[in-house]
Amino acid sequence: MSSILHVQWTVTPLIAPRPWLTCGRCGGIKPFQSSGKARLNANGKRLDAWLIYKCTDCDASWNRPLFERRNVREIDAGLLQTLQANDRQRIEAIAFDIEGLRRSATRIEEFPEAHVTKRVLAGNPAAFERARIALSVSLPCALRLDRLLAVELGVSRTRIQQLHAAERLRLSPVGARAFRRPVRDGMAVDLDADSTDRLAGLSTGVSVQPG
Ligand SMILES: [Zn+2]
Repeated sequence: MSSILHVQWTVTPLIAPRPWLTCGRCGGIKPFQSSGKARLNANGKRLDAWLIYKCTDCDASWNRPLFERRNVREIDAGLLQTLQANDRQRIEAIAFDIEGLRRSATRIEEFPEAHVTKRVLAGNPAAFERARIALSVSLPCALRLDRLLAVELGVSRTRIQQLHAAERLRLSPVGARAFRRPVRDGMAVDLDADSTDRLAGLSTGVSVQPG
């Protein structure tokens, strides 16, 4: 019977996407970063909410609309609770919602920097024939899958492609094109034990993926 090592890699992006906008104060198109603060405003029975961004050059504000003139009953209950409680951690997570940001900005800078933590779910890291890496990605992250695997396993991206072509590294539920795309929650990578010299990197350690 083959022995399988199950590990989980939790990938957390470090820098929220930044919209590039015309800054009215310092002039020119500048990157804006989330201040981590939101504003909720009542207008009769209608509510408005914004996430506040700051120009990285001059600190001028830009309000990213989260919703405008919306009846309280039409607003997602979780979002409303986050805003009413001024929950810093959850408000910060909104800054990573790039699809939401795209509704208000056309030019957006994304960052691949991420924090990676690994833990063993089952099996013996000292003796196994096959490893399954399950990716846990709770916030949208611009880090490419091939880059994550190459850095963490200590091999080149070309080597990752070769291992995949030789079926010693397998992806699920997605095909080879996923290598060039950002990591996604629920992806899994199966790896034969003799595929890399740095198998220790599979199951232990905390690392930061560089930009
Ligand atoms: Zn400015």
